[in-house]
Amino acid sequence: MSGPQAQVVARIPGAAALGLVPPRGAPAVPAGLLADPAWLGPVIAARAARGGDARVHATVWWYSASAVLLAPVLAGLAVGRPLSARPADTTVVLGAGGLPVAAVSAATAADPAAGLRECLAAVVPAVAAVAGMRSRPLWAIATDSLANGLLTLGRALGDVAAVTALAAPLAEAVGPPLPASRYVDVDGVRFTARASCCLVDRLPGGGTCLSCPRRPPAERQVLLEDAAARG
Ligand code: SF4
Repeated sequence: MSGPQAQVVARIPGAAALGLVPPRGAPAVPAGLLADPAWLGPVIAARAARGGDARVHATVWWYSASAVLLAPVLAGLAVGRPLSARPADTTVVLGAGGLPVAAVSAATAADPAAGLRECLAAVVPAVAAVAGMRSRPLWAIATDSLANGLLTLGRALGDVAAVTALAAPLAEAVGPPLPASRYVDVDGVRFTARASCCLVDRLPGGGTCLSCPRRPPAERQVLLEDAAARG
């Protein structure tokens, strides 16, 4: 990999595990393809054919896909070299079942929030359309991917406080309908305060989420304390 993202990657320990380094031999497509219902529809339909409804599969797909799609812009911000999230500047590497496994931005960005807004405003309605669902829950998933991504980058860079401090201003700069991005600190460990439900527990064999926003607050607090104790 060359270009501005290579310089960002070089500053992030473990970047390959964060969707920032394309695996060899995997197909790469323009990010705009993810906003094309003619491509996305069959991807979601193939997943739904294994059981469960399209809304669940589209939501779970977007939960993973958005984490990868946002990886370059978040990584660039984390190391002070902003990268563009515009679909025209971004290439996505696909794994099995049309799931993005890495994304590469070919351009730096003077206004990364504007590029991220352009990206989300293209992909989110397409996902909603092929699944026959509202866009709002998918925007909430994007917010959680934004917060999770910066939290992971903060841990990788050894400065969780500084990197996660970027989340709220970035979400605010993207603007509605992207919800505010928030964290909760439990026993000195930072977690994303989820805005979304990923519906993963509706999949056959799907588990439940540690920080599920639908849990009673006291139950969630106990589970986060356990997770904080485990480090
Ligand atoms: S555990 Fe909570 S967040 Fe996770 S899929 Fe179920 S309801 Fe949604």
